[in-house]
Amino acid sequence: MTIDNYNFKGKKAFVRVDFNVPVDENFVITDDTRIRAAMPTLKHIVENGGRLIMASHMGRPKKNPDPKYSLKCILPRVSELLGVEVKFAEDCNQADEICASLKDGEAVLLENLRFYAEEEGKPRGLAEDASDEEKAAAKKAIKAAQKEFAKHLASYADCYVNDAFGTAHRAHASTAVMASSFDKDNKMFGFLMEKEVKAVEKVMANPARPFTAIMGGSKVSTKIEIIENLLTKVDNLIIVGAMTYTFIKAQGGMIGDSLHEDDKMDLSLELLKKAEKNGVKMYLPVDNVIADKFDNNAHRQTTEIHNVPNGWIGMDIAEMSERVFADVIKSSKTVLWNGPAGVFEMENFAHGSKALAQAVADATQLGAYSLVGGGDSVACINKFGLADKVSYVSTGGGALLEAIEGKVLPGIAAIND
Ligand code: AMP
Repeated sequence: MTIDNYNFKGKKAFVRVDFNVPVDENFVITDDTRIRAAMPTLKHIVENGGRLIMASHMGRPKKNPDPKYSLKCILPRVSELLGVEVKFAEDCNQADEICASLKDGEAVLLENLRFYAEEEGKPRGLAEDASDEEKAAAKKAIKAAQKEFAKHLASYADCYVNDAFGTAHRAHASTAVMASSFDKDNKMFGFLMEKEVKAVEKVMANPARPFTAIMGGSKVSTKIEIIENLLTKVDNLIIVGAMTYTFIKAQGGMIGDSLHEDDKMDLSLELLKKAEKNGVKMYLPVDNVIADKFDNNAHRQTTEIHNVPNGWIGMDIAEMSERVFADVIKSSKTVLWNGPAGVFEMENFAHGSKALAQAVADATQLGAYSLVGGGDSVACINKFGLADKVSYVSTGGGALLEAIEGKVLPGIAAIND
């Protein structure tokens, strides 16, 4: 079932959205991107006579209710964008009446799902010195309660729509568990989720070749599974960011005081061997911009990547690397980019990330399919104003990374089941 061919007329539709937007200390939304991203799905439902029930989490509340994390502050913005006066259910678990009272084209927003520990299905308030048995019992109890909670949420509606890709990697009540209460003809992805799923499939399932992945960021340890999975898929793998220095040190290079992980050096050599065995061309930077302290105004110089003196830190890739990488990227037909090339938050060390972003945009112009995703890469591509010059910018940080790792995401599996 797809959202396009479902008949919403007269139907109560439970839509799991991601309205986890940043708000300031006065509860003013500072970035409404996520609310706007869900609008195509929400508008489609109300415009087709559906009765819309929106549910989301916000932040990481630890109690119920927790006014700091109330979704009430976003209600005016949701109403404005949707063009419908949205009702508010003060308690997501006691919204039977308000949901039942909806008429065609009307909408309600439920209060933060995470006010209930059942949403995440993780025990709360367990004593620190709890025994293993107590922990196991609490876990079992909350899992059972989660099923009931999910069933209750499902009882509000006739159909279930998941449009929250950002939480698709979590097996929460509203993102996965409740889907089992609906038959396959009454559950579907929203438009945003559909786009994300297709983008990941396009890159990971059957990519046009050559396929180049660019992996950056701070640590090898957080990206091991991704790199390992990519080594079975890509033609070229470009490594940038601080994780470079673990590889370089492992190869015997001098990395000065650059960020690195001593306990991941063996692993990095194994990854290089694996790349060779799989016929994947692995590219490490050849030069870098170094600084005498971790500061935008530090003294700077450019050196070869394996020649960083003591007292200096590798902060960004330099010109030669930019050129080599740009050539590889621009001759690719599929490009995946995750993680900045350097400390892009500091103006003086953003050049490499900008050059990569530009190369990904150029490759797209030349006909490649490009997917950019995972926290900082999205911030990067936005910072350089190139978001609309790539094929797709993913909205899901952790979810996208797990999909690239090759994991089955519970939120996707629950619909496809
Ligand atoms: P991650 O969260 O692992 O994707 O890493 C992103 C972070 O890595 C960004 O905040 C960058 O500033 C940081 N980063 C990138 N290159 C370096 C580097 N050479 N040294 C220290 N941090 C870096």
